[in-house]
Amino acid sequence: MNVPDIIIAVDGFSATGKSTFAKMVAKEFGFLYLDSGAMYRGVTLFSMENGMIAEDGAIDEAALKAVVEDLDLHFRNIDGKTCLYLGERCIETEIRTLAVSSHVSPVSAIPFVRNYVDRKLRAFSEGGRVIMDGRDIGTTVFPNAELKVFMTADPEVRALRRYDEMVEKGETPVFEDVVKNLAERDYIDSHRETSPLRQPEDAFVMDNTHMTLHEELVWCLGVIQGKFGILEAPALSW
Ligand code: C5P
Repeated sequence: MNVPDIIIAVDGFSATGKSTFAKMVAKEFGFLYLDSGAMYRGVTLFSMENGMIAEDGAIDEAALKAVVEDLDLHFRNIDGKTCLYLGERCIETEIRTLAVSSHVSPVSAIPFVRNYVDRKLRAFSEGGRVIMDGRDIGTTVFPNAELKVFMTADPEVRALRRYDEMVEKGETPVFEDVVKNLAERDYIDSHRETSPLRQPEDAFVMDNTHMTLHEELVWCLGVIQGKFGILEAPALSW
């Protein structure tokens, strides 16, 4: 099936499987996948490593503001996987720790940080044929995206998925900490002043609490066919 050169915006709460879904769709239809959360995590890691976040979580906004525009955060494709780089350093592993997760939402609520990330994301997406996941992609970054998906799932299922993911990576998380972190991020993300997490009015909503990945792909295909009037019979690679 020929999918047109469009921008697909995928938004939703933390750990709803947005990146897994977006990566799968990107692979299936030959789209560039961009993870906007990785950019916020990158800014957070940089701030932590440079003493801009105190132990109590206070952020030295003046210090961050002075350098944020010069941060060379970019994605590289390594063996078919999109990895975040800070200059010449791959930071893909470091940005996924619970320590970064616990500071990322306050950092991403800062307007000048959002401004920096939004501009980078738009520059990375020039030319279209991009699927991007985040919290404000369909509302702020690409309000005219041709296709918008909003993902949601039961909070306990989300926490369990994130917990399993961390264990698989060799981390030793405490389940209650993971639950707490997700709840805190959901709250901050939906209540901040600049670009809060909202379901775009024109988004297709997917609750994947009880869905397999294959069902998600079939769902996406159906949405694309319906939206763009594609009659051709779907032929998925798996
Ligand atoms: O998607 P991920 O969980 O990696 O995102 C990390 C954090 O970055 C989120 O909890 C949210 O605070 C922030 N974020 C955001 N806007 C986006 C993507 C992520 O505020 N578009």
